[in-house]
Amino acid sequence: MSALYVVSTPIGNLEDITYRAVRILGEADLIAAEDTRHTRKLLDAYDIRTPTTSLHSHNEAGKSNSLLRRVEDGEDVALVSDGGTPGISDPGGRLIRAAIDRGIRVVPAPGPCACVAAASVAGLPTAAFYYAGFCSPKSGRRRRRMESLRDLDVTLIFYESPHRVRRFLGDAEEVFGPRPAVAARELTKVYEEFVRGTLTDLREHFEGTAPRGEFTILIHGRGDDEPSSPTDDSGRTAGA
Ligand code: SAM
Repeated sequence: MSALYVVSTPIGNLEDITYRAVRILGEADLIAAEDTRHTRKLLDAYDIRTPTTSLHSHNEAGKSNSLLRRVEDGEDVALVSDGGTPGISDPGGRLIRAAIDRGIRVVPAPGPCACVAAASVAGLPTAAFYYAGFCSPKSGRRRRRMESLRDLDVTLIFYESPHRVRRFLGDAEEVFGPRPAVAARELTKVYEEFVRGTLTDLREHFEGTAPRGEFTILIHGRGDDEPSSPTDDSGRTAGA
């Protein structure tokens, strides 16, 4: 039975791909990739000759129908993003939702995900965590989002682009205080680095060192000794 395969790919180190992902990508009739030129490097490394087509945030709505029709006609389509797991802060969600609605088989081929890789070595609690993805680039919205997460007692995991890391850490320190935190930089790559300490330590570190590369930032959840956020007269959490 034909399927839409959702295939995780490396977040840096090209060796981080499963045997199964290589087989699925090699056997599929078509690979829908966020950036076909980027994915070509991975496919070349594993001698995969499957044709590719682009599926990114700007064409996902329009292109999903034709891709899913091919699956309905008996072809296997594999979905990949530029790195990590498709649909996780990456395109793919709409295609997957539409496939489910049409009764198409959707099959995950799990593998790398920056959020999970960072959580696995951060040294922060991971029995439960909250994946917050990207905050808004706008300071007001970013802070409101952080404030809405302040009372969660689980580790918070954010993605952030390097040119916003300093502003992110400045806001995070003000909202969360000096909680333990980790900046996981360039996971699986040559310059992989973990900066651990309090949010104040991290802010100070990146004041002196320009943030470069890809960042996943983890912040300890609210501790038992931290007061919960003040509430207004209606009982709502301030800032939420
Ligand atoms: N779908 C991907 C996944 O499963 O992790 C995430 C894609 S999202 C567009 C890209 C963001 O993920 C980056 O801006 C960064 O925050 C994080 N990220 C991706 N690769 C990373 C890496 N090697 N090291 C640290 N963070 C990374």
